[in-house]
Amino acid sequence: MNDCIFCKIANKEIETKILYEDEQFIAFEDVNKQAPVHFLIIPKKHIETLNDVSDSENIFAQKILSIIKKTAGQTGVAETGYRIVINCNRDAGQEVLHLHIHVLGGRTFSWPPG
Ligand code: AMP
Repeated sequence: MNDCIFCKIANKEIETKILYEDEQFIAFEDVNKQAPVHFLIIPKKHIETLNDVSDSENIFAQKILSIIKKTAGQTGVAETGYRIVINCNRDAGQEVLHLHIHVLGGRTFSWPPG
């Protein structure tokens, strides 16, 4: 997927502010922050949407939760609060077709979301 912007970020072809990285995942600041803290966690492997995560990749969920917890602490929003968003496909407004988890914090969010 040479034209995938998030693959390019994972491969360091595009520079971002990286908050976390391991063999499978990378977390980086969103270029268009919607909150004082707004970063994205992505698998390095190109997976288009949450629908494309296979059952054999169940370990994903556990690993991602652990990364969320770690990075939320690192960015200082663990205690004040934060919101996790995964936009999946058109109705949810997914713009980049490479699975990503938004982590937002540093302000109060309303519910229901828009
Ligand atoms: P979504 O609408 O869920 O697909 O969100 C895509 C997110 O990717 C948006 O919040 C964008 O601001 C963010 N984004 C797009 N390109 C970049 C980039 N080069 N670096 C960091 N974030 C990006």
